[in-house]
Amino acid sequence: MLDPARLSIHQVTLLQQCSTPQFVDALMRNGVPCTSVWREKVREYGVEQTARLLADNGVALSGYCWGGLVTSPDRSEAAKARDEVRRALDEAAAVKAPCLVFVAGGVAPRDKNIADARARALDGVAELIPHARSVGVKIALEPLHPMTCATRSVLSTVKLANAWCDSLSAEDIVGIAVDTYAVWWDPDIEAEIARAGKRICSFHVSDWLVDTQDLRFDRGMMGDGVIDLPALRRWVEAAGYDGYVEVEIFSQRNWWQRDPDEVIGVIKDRMQTAV
Ligand code: ZN
Repeated sequence: MLDPARLSIHQVTLLQQCSTPQFVDALMRNGVPCTSVWREKVREYGVEQTARLLADNGVALSGYCWGGLVTSPDRSEAAKARDEVRRALDEAAAVKAPCLVFVAGGVAPRDKNIADARARALDGVAELIPHARSVGVKIALEPLHPMTCATRSVLSTVKLANAWCDSLSAEDIVGIAVDTYAVWWDPDIEAEIARAGKRICSFHVSDWLVDTQDLRFDRGMMGDGVIDLPALRRWVEAAGYDGYVEVEIFSQRNWWQRDPDEVIGVIKDRMQTAV
């Protein structure tokens, strides 16, 4: 049984049904204490306005999603990308999010060199550390599924995230976001979660549908797929994580088509039976 006080529902779960005020209303109506906000939506509604709306309604934040894509081999492009992450860190601080979910970036067709892309991503994180410290927002390295390696993230495993954390030596400000959808398949996952320990600063749940039809926008509701979510939760908790359990479901064909109260109702049930 998950303590309902630990439930966070990521804004993206109701991305298409709700404006930001409608989303916050839906959380309040259903007694959901926490969210992680989606950067595009925040910028659309306004950073200050979003911060005020969340604070006025007493909604806690488990994260700010997302910033990154710092792997460009072009120096000025890479510098621009890092500036954009600094802006995202500022916004995260403004809405009082504890961490920014960091998506490394993909492989440039120009050099087709994944090792170099990984090295550049790690250098990029190192360059962002002083700014993250100055605004008090953690950089949450989020490994993504390897199928997104070309476009979104050359950081594909918790093992690699641990290696990056080892080399950065910045445990106060760089952590790891464990997204079950991205890492459930990994044969090393239990051991690498244990190794990550207190680095884990964010934990995301959804499910992998057997007949999944889209790599980004067809996530399943917890319990509808093949991920052993209770085991993953046990492992992150054994590693020392006791924070929010964040529901993050991108679902073009199903959950984005439904009524917000229905979606939240199903989430609350599944948090008790499938997570
Ligand atoms: Zn995630």
